[in-house]
Amino acid sequence: MRKPLIAANWKMYKTTRETEEYIKKFLNLVKDIKDRDIVLCVPFTSLYIAEKLLNGSNVKLGAQNMYVEEKGAYTGEISPSMLKDVGCSYVILGHSERRKYFYEKDEFVNKKMLVALKFGLTPIVCIGETLQEREDGKTFDVLEYQVKNSLKNLSKEDADKIVIAYEPVWAIGTGKNATPQQAQQAQNFIREKYAELYGKDVSSKVRILYGGSIKPENFKEIMAQQDVDGGLVGGASLDVESFYKIVIYDK
Ligand code: PEP
Repeated sequence: MRKPLIAANWKMYKTTRETEEYIKKFLNLVKDIKDRDIVLCVPFTSLYIAEKLLNGSNVKLGAQNMYVEEKGAYTGEISPSMLKDVGCSYVILGHSERRKYFYEKDEFVNKKMLVALKFGLTPIVCIGETLQEREDGKTFDVLEYQVKNSLKNLSKEDADKIVIAYEPVWAIGTGKNATPQQAQQAQNFIREKYAELYGKDVSSKVRILYGGSIKPENFKEIMAQQDVDGGLVGGASLDVESFYKIVIYDK
């Protein structure tokens, strides 16, 4: 049984004051939930205040990116040890917005993932096809390439410690979610590729999230799919009530 994981990706939203207001309300709503993992991936500037509020709670803290070195002359970057220091357990890597606007490639995402594991952070590695790739019938080729290249040199021992997020690029922030069947088909494919690389015992343990225009109205049906183990939620996680409804999708 894979424990569901629902993660918020706040992207570049919320000041420290807004973070504080949100988390106080959110913790009050979710404090008794134990049968699923809940993660808030907040902007770097909100990590410190978020940790103060989340510490000891059932909600874990995550970052949205990190660099691959522990320290050094890398102006503007944040290291894995800094994320650990501020209380992060998770880090989103290879989000399509980073691939699109900051030209991140699978090889770099792969490096980051290996470093995150070394520092005891759980990487949420994002993969997914663009609309053009889907229309050209290349979805599965793209996913196979991304699985193989983003996860290169990942040991069998660590293979079930990471989280994969299937995020079709055409569904992110567009209001147009993948159908539950499209999500299942892609995520089943990813799990099969995983099984080829690491064996069935490992592939049956790794959690694969769906991400792309999740809303309280569509998440229950998406979660009903066998290979969907949770969600990475952007826009709809910015409002406390809306994210809470997503977290309790089956209640
Ligand atoms: C995301 O940021 O990972 C995401 C899926 O965004 P949205 O839910 O807004 O589509």
